[in-house]
Amino acid sequence: MTQVYGKVALIGLGLIASSMYWASKRAGVAGVTAGYARSSETRETARRIGLCDSICDTAAEAVAEADLVVLAVPVGAMASVAQEIAPHLKPGCTVTDVGSVKRHVIDAVAPHLPETVQFVAGHPLAGTEHSGPESGFDTLFDNRWTLLVPTETASARSIADLRTYWEALGANVEEMDADHHDLVLAVTSHAPHLIAYTMVGVADDLRRVTDSEVIKYSAAGFRDFTRIAASDPTMWRDVFLTNKDATLEILGRFTEELFALQRAIRTGNGEHLHAYFTHTRAIRRGIIEAGQDTEAPDFGRGKSKT
Ligand code: NAP
Repeated sequence: MTQVYGKVALIGLGLIASSMYWASKRAGVAGVTAGYARSSETRETARRIGLCDSICDTAAEAVAEADLVVLAVPVGAMASVAQEIAPHLKPGCTVTDVGSVKRHVIDAVAPHLPETVQFVAGHPLAGTEHSGPESGFDTLFDNRWTLLVPTETASARSIADLRTYWEALGANVEEMDADHHDLVLAVTSHAPHLIAYTMVGVADDLRRVTDSEVIKYSAAGFRDFTRIAASDPTMWRDVFLTNKDATLEILGRFTEELFALQRAIRTGNGEHLHAYFTHTRAIRRGIIEAGQDTEAPDFGRGKSKT
């Protein structure tokens, strides 16, 4: 694999950034990679496990002379990080992010960046419920989608290079408009996470089902909800606060469908239930056929991916 960037800077050293480093090392797509995290504890852990070629004590030091700068912090922290690094960016470099929401990140980051910088927002559709520098692994992005959302001023060259970089990390890459991205993700990820959080909260509230029963009999469905509901609270708080409109739209639709199913159960409308479940089963088939999940009984998740 040929090198795409001489120097990459990873700002934030959690699940996504650490996986990017290991995958990039596997591919040999970056000359050197510098990393920065806000806490000395995370920086120490990163140094101990050999994450990145160098771990810097300031974001300014990490981004100096970098050809690609990746913002891999929670969505709510993107603006302050962009403001902090802006004066230290190399003219002509590309800045990207991995945030789960795109419109908010673009609006929060773009105003801080100098005109010489190419800003191409991004979002890898891969993750687990684990966080921190020790949770990353080099196969996280293999055969998963990364969506790129270039800003109007980004050059064709900067977009093409970022695409090559993500492909080297194992991902399939597609470009998408920011608002459409936020709607698609509200359906495929954000609303499902909220439903999982709610379901686990409900089970916790049900005093008739003891805790041990919930854990013991969780294999059927509930176990997957608990895995999703164990996702990082800061990340998901920020997702809902910043993708408010699309999430509320999908939750409105969800509530309507739920009421219709509730009514079918109450009125004994088996035909409605059967037709509904036949339709949803076909959607699941489509996901498997698209290679985005497997038939395996545990959903094929040796290392669970969301
Ligand atoms: P993570 O494992 O929780 O790591 C977050 C990193 O950001 C840590 O290094 C943390 O530093 C740093 N950070 C947190 N708050 C900060 C602040 N206010 N200022 C500066 N740095 C801060 O997170 P992640 O799962 O890698 O997620 C990173 C980004 O990727 C998020 O925007 C998320 O939406 C997106 N994403 C996540 C997933 C997923 O499934 N996890 C999937 C796709 C995209 P300290 O450790 O020093 O606190």
